[in-house]
This record gives sequence, C-alpha cells and structure tokens, in this order.
Amino acid sequence: MIFIVAGVSGSGKSTIGIKLAEKLKIPFYDGDDFHPEANKAKMKSGTPLNDEDRKPWLENLNKNMREWEQKKGAVLACSALKEDYREILANGIRGPLVWVFLKGTKELLQERMEARKGHFFSPALLDSQLQTIVYPTYSLTVDIALSPDQIVNKIMENSSSEIGLIGLGVMGRSLALNMADKGFVVSVYNRVAPGEETIVKDFIDALEPNQQVRGYTSLPDFVKSLKKPANIIIMVSAGKAVDQVIESLKPYLASGDLIIDCGNSHFEDTGLRTKTLAEAGIEFMGTGVSGGEKGARFGPSIMPGGNPTIYKRVQPVFEQISAKDEDKNPCCTYIGPEGSGHFVKMIHNGIEYAEMQILAEAYFVMKNGLAMNNEQIADEFETWIESGQGSYLLEITVSILRKKEKGTYLLDAILDKAGQKGTGSWSSEFAFRSGIPLNTISEAVQARQVSALKNYRTKMGSLYSLSGESNFSATAKELQQAVYLATMVNHHIGFSAIKEASKERDWNVDLSETARIWTNGCIIRSELMKKLALELQNSEGVLESAWIKERVEDSFESLKKVLSNSILSNIPTPVMNTSLQYLLSITNERLPANLIQAQRDYFGAHTYQRLDGGDEFFHSNWE
Ligand code: NDP
Repeated sequence: MIFIVAGVSGSGKSTIGIKLAEKLKIPFYDGDDFHPEANKAKMKSGTPLNDEDRKPWLENLNKNMREWEQKKGAVLACSALKEDYREILANGIRGPLVWVFLKGTKELLQERMEARKGHFFSPALLDSQLQTIVYPTYSLTVDIALSPDQIVNKIMENSSSEIGLIGLGVMGRSLALNMADKGFVVSVYNRVAPGEETIVKDFIDALEPNQQVRGYTSLPDFVKSLKKPANIIIMVSAGKAVDQVIESLKPYLASGDLIIDCGNSHFEDTGLRTKTLAEAGIEFMGTGVSGGEKGARFGPSIMPGGNPTIYKRVQPVFEQISAKDEDKNPCCTYIGPEGSGHFVKMIHNGIEYAEMQILAEAYFVMKNGLAMNNEQIADEFETWIESGQGSYLLEITVSILRKKEKGTYLLDAILDKAGQKGTGSWSSEFAFRSGIPLNTISEAVQARQVSALKNYRTKMGSLYSLSGESNFSATAKELQQAVYLATMVNHHIGFSAIKEASKERDWNVDLSETARIWTNGCIIRSELMKKLALELQNSEGVLESAWIKERVEDSFESLKKVLSNSILSNIPTPVMNTSLQYLLSITNERLPANLIQAQRDYFGAHTYQRLDGGDEFFHSNWE
C-alpha cells in the first residue's frame, strides 16, 4: 500500500508522513528530495515552479512508487496540488493508493511556515499554493489543527473505506450521508454520463467537515479504496442498470466480496443474481430500503435478505443507519435467504399502494358524499390521528390537504392521473402466478390504471349519465371505522402473502419482526403496525388476532354503510369495497365455487372434487 500525504506547504506533510511510516513500519520518502537541482534553486529564489518544471519530478516519483509497491509499500510526502499531478503520480500503480490531504486555515499554515528554520521554501509562496490546490474527491481529508498523533491515528483507522456505495441518485446520496454521519468511512461512485460529469465532485464538495466520504468516477479505484473483503451497496434504478453495474464491477472484485442491492429489485432477479454471482465466488444480498429520500438520509426501515453469515459483515452499518422503533431497537432485521428481503419490500410497497388508495377514497367520500372542503377533511383526518388511528400516510395527507400555492389549494390543481413504478404491479403479478390472493393490492394497482385513463374517463363521463342519489347518510365517524377495517384487511392480505411465500420457499420470515421494523422509518409506519408487531408474536395472521377481530366486528356495519351509501351516490371506492368482499369471502365457509367447478367440468372435462368424496376427482356427463 502506498500512502501519499499531501497538502500545501506548511501543512505538516513530512512530520505526519514520518510518524505514519514509523507506525506502519514502512519507508518514508519526502517528495521534495526528488526534485531536480534546477527546481530546488528556483524555489529557493522564491520563483514558483511551473507545470513544465514539475513534470519530470512527478514522473520520477511515479517511477519510484512503482518500485516501492513491489517491496514493502511506502509513505510519500508530496504536495500533489492538482489532479494533473496526481494522475502522473498514480499512473500504473496497482495496489491501493491512499491519498491523505492535510487541510488547515491560511492563518495556521502561515504561522507554521514562519516558525520553520532552514527550510528552502518561502512563506510568500503559500498564497500561490492555496490558489492552485484542488482537493480531490477521493482523498481522506484531515484537519491539521489536530495533534500529529491524532492525525496519524485517523489515517490508520480510515485508510480504507468500510463500505462502498454505487449510485448517487436520490436514495444513494442520502444513504451515503447517513452512513457518514454515523462515523463510517464511505467510498462512493457514480458513472459519468453526459451532462452529469460533476455528480461526484458536487456531492463531495457539499460534505460537512466530519463526514468522511471519498468520491470516485473510476470503478477500479473505488474498489481499491475499500477494506477487504469489500462490501458494496448498489443503489441504482432497478432492472437492467443493476445487471450493468454488476457486470462492470465484477472484473475488479475478488472472491468473498459482497454486493448489496438496496434498490427495489424484483425478488426473483435477486434470487438469480445471488446464484450466478455465487458461481464466481461473489456474495450478493438483496435488501429492501423504505422511507424515501428523508428516510434514507435520517433512518430508513431496512429489510436485508441473503446469506445470514455474510449479512453479519454489514449488520452494524445497517443497524446504525436505520430508524429506531419505540424501544430504540433498529428498524432493520435479517429477513431470510435469497430474494426474501426484496420480496418483503415488494409486499410493503403493495400494502402502501392500497393504504394510499384507501385514504384517497376516504378523501373522495368526504368531498363528494359529505360535502366537506379540504380544511374540514384535514381537520377530520387529524381527529383520526388523535384517536389512535395515526399513520405516516395520514399525516402527510393532512399536510397535502392544507397546502396552498398563491392562495389556492395545490391538491385541487393536481391532475387526477396516478403514476406507478412497478412494485405494486409486481405484487399483483406474483398473486396471479402464485395463487396467493392480494385482492386489495391488485385493486389499488388497477385503480391507478383506471385513473390514468383520464381522456377516456372524460369521454365516457359525457356519454353516460348514470342515476345516483345525493343523500349520503353515513357519517364521518362511520367512514373512519370503514377505513380502519379496510386497513386491517389490507394488512392481513399483505402479511398472509409473506407467510405463504415464506412457507413455500423455506425462508422462515418472522411476521412480528417484519411488522416491528415497519413501525418506523418506512412509508407504511402506523399505530396499527405497532399493534401488529405485538399481535403477530402469538397470532397466525392479522385477522386471526383477537384484538383485531374485536375491531373488525366493531367496524363491520360502518364499512357496509359507507360502501352502500357510496354506491348509491356513485362514488367509486374500489379498494374499500374489495376489502369488504375479501372479508365476506374469507369468513364464508361456502362460496359459489361449486358452480364454477361444475361449469369447468361441463365444457372442459376439468373434473371436480365432492364434499363427500375425499381427495378423489370426478367427471360427469352433464348433458
Ligand atoms: P434516481 O433516479 O434518483 O437515481 C438512480 C441512480 O442509478 C443514479 O445514480 C443513476 O446514475 C444510477 N443509474 C441508473 N442507470 C444506471 C446504469 N445503467 N449504470 C450505472 N448507474 C445507473 O433513483 P432513486 O435513488 O430514487 O432510486 C434508486 C433505487 O432505490 C431504485 O431501485 C428505486 O426503486 C429504489 N427506491 C427509491 C425510493 C425513493 O423514494 N426514491 C425509495 C426506496 C427505494 P446517473 O445519475 O448517472 O443517471
């Protein structure tokens, strides 16, 4: 390993370099000793060196560095003020090259230079150096106000980054800052795409002095900067981008290095990537992260899936950066092997889709059924929060309802066409393929799809004038109960899917722990979730809990009344309606599926089972 201790004159490069070399038991070299005599004479006379003067000097240093790295490594003190100089120094260096920049105020530097005796450098050149120096994004930067021992210790502790992160988008930036705040030394990388050349530099320039983050636009240098075996988070757009990043990383990774995909990847892709990378000796984990930009920055809910032994390597990082529950435990728990972390995140997002739609339906019922204005709806939602039915989504809904721009409500100006990115529809696709029902979630996805048909809806609205009643007789209190019931059913559906998928795949996902890590940091955190974390310790599922059962039975009539009134008043409430239909079906021992079986057997000889026939299948001649 080669350490370059750099900085302007007077920053203490030689003092620190010598001490560091002593501690590391490797040779120390002072870059100034490698200057040709002509350069030394020029400096002594107070004339600054130009780039032409420096070139042979830097090339000579680079030649020596290549030799040093073949032996024990070395510490080199060298000003390395500009990127051009650093490129010459780093050219062809194979092993880790640790850049340490000593940084201090002009006053302190001046004071130290004036105190020096018998040094050939004139303090008058300090200004020119300070104007020239461009601090690199990838260096460890240490404040020269610290004592030499403190500086050396800091360099020793932080010479390699504990963790790497690829993708400085909305989530990646926030996660990197969160890790740096918790004292982890982080290396970050972002590709250089046209028009985005300064992403890494801008990110590093905006860091607080206490945040140790090194920024790279070269993948090999990024990987070299990491402790071995390397732990690398990738936070890039799901799909092709993940595979592209993995492929470009692979040539620089060694056996045992770990890639953790923290984006919203499909759980089956994660399972496949885990297997493929294992063949190359590379560990892979799929980890769900929820909480949006703010969550990632200050404490998300984290759902890691993969090899449990390998997870231990990053567990301290994830636990420290995650949100904390009411008992101050991390909102991060090992979910299970393979793609289980991403599966649980997918269901989290599915629950989120339906919760958002339920609140949107409640808003629509209050607006169109109860003729309430935005402020009244916000006031009503606030009473729900106060009565113990609070959630993050409800809280932001109150703020959204009250938000005004230029004196008018912003919400009223927003086009009623909902977008989506994928995890909701992945849940529905999973439901259809696996036979595990996700009724409320699928309905919420389809409600967004119908909303997106804005032009067609407008056309059909003018084509039809369907009769409806204006007399909406359910109350806001009954609506609150209806929403609560729909929410409980929606959570039951989501947790049941996790339970069934986990059983099928031997993932052994702990439902209560899953609910616990969703009590803070994530988008679906709520008072109900806190209760579920407790209830699911002893209950097989959400609706099986005695506490939930009591509330479902209490709210049942209200849900029916709200839905029947909504139907009579022509107010669409698809997810609340689906929650009732699911509840009616799941609690009904007899459904009309006997007729469906008979029809299938009639036209397609698909056979059927009989109530009195055990496991046997029958076929009838129906004509
Ligand atoms: P952004 O669009 O803000 O950032 C995407 C990042 O991926 C950028 O750094 C981008 O680089 C990089 N990238 C895209 N394509 C490639 C590629 N082919 N090769 C290399 N890098 C690439 O997305 P987010 O940060 O919002 O999301 C990242 C992941 O996190 C996604 O999977 C998302 O679903 C998930 N997520 C997002 C949440 C959110 O609230 N935003 C919440 C939870 C998870 P460049 O800048 O050069 O284009």
